[in-house]
Amino acid sequence: MIFSGKEDKSVGIEDIELEVPVILSHDTLLKEAILIISGKEGNKQSCILVEDQGAIVGILTERDLVRLCLVSTTLQNTKVSEVMTHPVKMLEQENFTDIFSAYSLMRRYQIRHLPIVKQQKVVGIVTISILRQNLHVGYFLRFREVQEIMTHHVITIEPHASVMEVAQLMAKHRISCVVVVNNNTSDITPVGILTERDIVQFQAMELNLQNLLVGAVMSSPLLYLRPEDSLEKAQKMMQQYRVRRVVVINQSGQLCGIVTETNLSQTLDPIELFGIMEILQRRIQSLVRDRNRLLPQENRSLHKALQNHEFQLYYHPQINTQTGKLVGAEALVRWHSPQRGIVAPSEFIPIAEMTGFIIPLGQWILRRACEQVIAWQKQGFPPFVISVNVSSLQLQDPQFVTMLKLLLMELNFDSRWLKLELTESTLVENIEHTLSQFQAIKQLGVAIAIDDFGTGYASLGYLQHFPFDTLKIDRCFVENIHQNPKNAAIATAIIRMAHQLNFSVVAEGIEQEEELQFLKELHCYVVQGYLISRPLPVEDFQIILQKYM
Ligand code: C2E
Ligand code: MG
Ligand code: MG
Repeated sequence: MIFSGKEDKSVGIEDIELEVPVILSHDTLLKEAILIISGKEGNKQSCILVEDQGAIVGILTERDLVRLCLVSTTLQNTKVSEVMTHPVKMLEQENFTDIFSAYSLMRRYQIRHLPIVKQQKVVGIVTISILRQNLHVGYFLRFREVQEIMTHHVITIEPHASVMEVAQLMAKHRISCVVVVNNNTSDITPVGILTERDIVQFQAMELNLQNLLVGAVMSSPLLYLRPEDSLEKAQKMMQQYRVRRVVVINQSGQLCGIVTETNLSQTLDPIELFGIMEILQRRIQSLVRDRNRLLPQENRSLHKALQNHEFQLYYHPQINTQTGKLVGAEALVRWHSPQRGIVAPSEFIPIAEMTGFIIPLGQWILRRACEQVIAWQKQGFPPFVISVNVSSLQLQDPQFVTMLKLLLMELNFDSRWLKLELTESTLVENIEHTLSQFQAIKQLGVAIAIDDFGTGYASLGYLQHFPFDTLKIDRCFVENIHQNPKNAAIATAIIRMAHQLNFSVVAEGIEQEEELQFLKELHCYVVQGYLISRPLPVEDFQIILQKYM
């Protein structure tokens, strides 16, 4: 369940730094609260929670304080409980599963502060600023423009008006700032801005707002954005200058709008996101349905293919470049489907692993490979090691080692000439069992190679706890090893450590002469790859046998 809220906390919710709450008793004098919110006390507090007998009964924000200037109360005796907003909308911590749970609540109730509570105790406050910082990674904002989200209808005031008028406008329109403009009938040029926070600060200084002129106290010069600027730029500007709104002007300097934090935090509409998630979920469900429908079908064709002898083993030579001799071969399965032609193992092995068909198929492959080695030995070719790929599902099968033992006995096969290739990922699943299977295989005298080494998660240090003989360096590290310093470094490290730990090394996927030379210089002598030969059916492989024996 990827998208469900409760079970699966989305990544990083723990990393969100909530605002630390300041909680005052309901009978605290308002003056004290104003000092805290205005920042005079040195802390940056966006709101204050009010408690009465241990319970949160109200919240005090800049907006409440601006409203306060309109009624001529003397701050001297006013208590916070008289101006606070109540009741307070809060969110239980267990429901704060992701940033959207907080965001949709704040949007629905049009609030800018949301206390998070756990067992009736406030553990922190989510604010619009915190949401903006966490919601909007530049990636989403880069391709969107300021004009898409800005507020066009801006409330303006002229410099000669009083701050009291500004407070009135803010309270009337429920806005957090007013843009100061020089209004000469034909054009509107913004010259400054006044915010709720400014007003709270004037209150803290006990200034008479009626006598205070806008032009004297407004913030200017202004920061500007253009309508066609990216939202990423808006976001960066707000972050850099620590402002919560930026004025938007056109080319001739005329006011055309304003971008606020709230605008920005609304660019990622959670409804839209949940919509996308729903579509994805449906898509996944339909893929799962398709898979469940197709798998049994595929499984039937694979079983039929085994009955009809449509599988064949190809052999890929492994050469010791120091001696120039063939030292081994890897058996690789092919499916000759009458309908589809030759099907690569990468297409049907994963299906066989999903349906469990890999168990009977794997048994057939092992038997077929061993029989072939015996046949070559009978024909007088000097013996060499045959490597057979074994899926982790086969290894997990409790019958696997017994099956292997019985097969070796039945064919009277000398186990010295068999090596099982297991991928690195096998080692990190079900460790105890894998280890005991490894030991049982080794007791039979069968060697083990770790295939595709370097592509999984296991480190060499971890690997050494498993008894195996050979490391196969994956093709991706061999590719252009002579030109790619990263590959060269990785391969060098693997080879050096393997030698120290007494594992032999096979480099897989050599296609170029230069790669071969480079590996020789690293003292890696056993190689397998298209440079020497493609994997070949029995008859063609015999030509290679003759050449390298
Ligand atoms: P693998 O065991 O790592 O086998 C090596 C693969 O790399 C083979 O592909 C081989 O043809 C290919 N290869 C070798 N040298 C070169 C080279 O120089 N250049 C390129 N481009 N490729 C090279 P193949 O036969 O298609 O097998 C793919 C994978 O399918 C195998 O990877 C193995 O994981 C699986 N597989 C193949 N046969 C069997 C099998 O009998 N049983 C099981 N369980 N899995 C098998
Ligand atoms: Mg292999
Ligand atoms: Mg491999």
